[in-house]
Amino acid sequence: MLNKLLYMETFGCQMNVNDSERIVTMLADLGYGPTNDPASADMILLNTCSVRGGAEEKVYRRLANLRIYKRDGKKQIIAVGGCVAQQEGEELLRKLPYLDLVIGTHNLHLLPDLVRGAERGERRSETSFIDNDQRLDLFPSITGESRLSRFVTVMQGCDNFCSYCIVPFVRGREISRRSADILNEVRQLADDGVREVILLGQNVNSYGLKAGNEPTFAELVRQVADIDGIDRIRFTTSHPKDMSDELIACFGDVPKLSGQIHLPAQSGSDAVLGLMGRGYTRDSYLDKIYKLKALRPDIVVTGDIIVGFPGETEQDFEQTLSLMEKVRYIDLFSFVYSPRPGTKAAELRDDMPRAVKMARLDRLMELQRFHTREISTTYVGNVMTVLVEGEGKLPGQVSGKGDIGRIVNFTGDISLVGSFVDVKIIKAYPNSFLGEI
Ligand code: SF4
Repeated sequence: MLNKLLYMETFGCQMNVNDSERIVTMLADLGYGPTNDPASADMILLNTCSVRGGAEEKVYRRLANLRIYKRDGKKQIIAVGGCVAQQEGEELLRKLPYLDLVIGTHNLHLLPDLVRGAERGERRSETSFIDNDQRLDLFPSITGESRLSRFVTVMQGCDNFCSYCIVPFVRGREISRRSADILNEVRQLADDGVREVILLGQNVNSYGLKAGNEPTFAELVRQVADIDGIDRIRFTTSHPKDMSDELIACFGDVPKLSGQIHLPAQSGSDAVLGLMGRGYTRDSYLDKIYKLKALRPDIVVTGDIIVGFPGETEQDFEQTLSLMEKVRYIDLFSFVYSPRPGTKAAELRDDMPRAVKMARLDRLMELQRFHTREISTTYVGNVMTVLVEGEGKLPGQVSGKGDIGRIVNFTGDISLVGSFVDVKIIKAYPNSFLGEI
């Protein structure tokens, strides 16, 4: 019975969103039901992200705001999970006397015991890394309410140590989940009515590379495609250096594989890619894009770019803009470089004025807005197959994602939910389409 209330805030990547769903399911077993009101909550949990600079301060500020709900002796548990919890650990408990729990990225399975302890007044921090096969049994599996599109975690962690990135330090070593467990979960999801799966991992396409007895990621995609009931497959996040010809070939002959790929370049300059330790060059990145487009001419690409990396010259930045011209991203997540504690790049001299970094970001985003508009308008008048997932933006509308991963709103009956519908695109917006059946 749900007789206690849980207030949660989730920051950062899809891995955190997935972990938060898992937390909700585990705490429901302890009687916690979700609430949007921190004042009435018996437990407050922040699932945090530390990818960007200022992540720690943001968490401390948010906790300072939330502590007001824990006064006058009110028995309320305050907990922090995710990457800032992993990074700060005991330090958080030491600095914040009103904080009860710190749960690291490898320790979610301990949450029920930790919460029971906190209900008895214990304060605990659990941030040990589990870098052995025990972790194979700790992967999140089906959680949360049933939906038509579900994330399926296939691997965790990262061994790439890009010079600017904190993820390997807070998510631990790469580990590939047993393919048998993944396929069983996907079959279960198909039985539950799920039509689309999104294979998830920090470096999803390095799946199986270090697990000798597991299939390659390309083979795994084909095995998932063989499962009846699953009609669409996506995956995120890919690393360009692990974008094998075998995987690229899947975009040519696996019809269930969606025509959309997220392939973070981070920079268009070899000099900057070298400083970042990305493990590929501008040309090898473009080569993969050209191969993808040759096999799947209607494929759309999204990406990530960091501007203002230490040592980035105006020429380097121009290289990034020209890479964008060649790739034509439909969407791009762009950030100003921010040093992260413990990373190699944090030791680099970073004397570029903030104004220069922000000006480069503005120019980049302006070019991207132009590309997004240009690409999106090419769909107007065309028909797109949409998996209807629920109500649309306006009354009488339903919505869902087309093959390229963009939301389409159109007038239609709610009974269409769960079915694939051919929709004619009549208007393109920056992040969605308006259509008609
Ligand atoms: S591949 Fe690089 S950027 Fe991506 S998570 Fe790993 S270290 Fe970070």
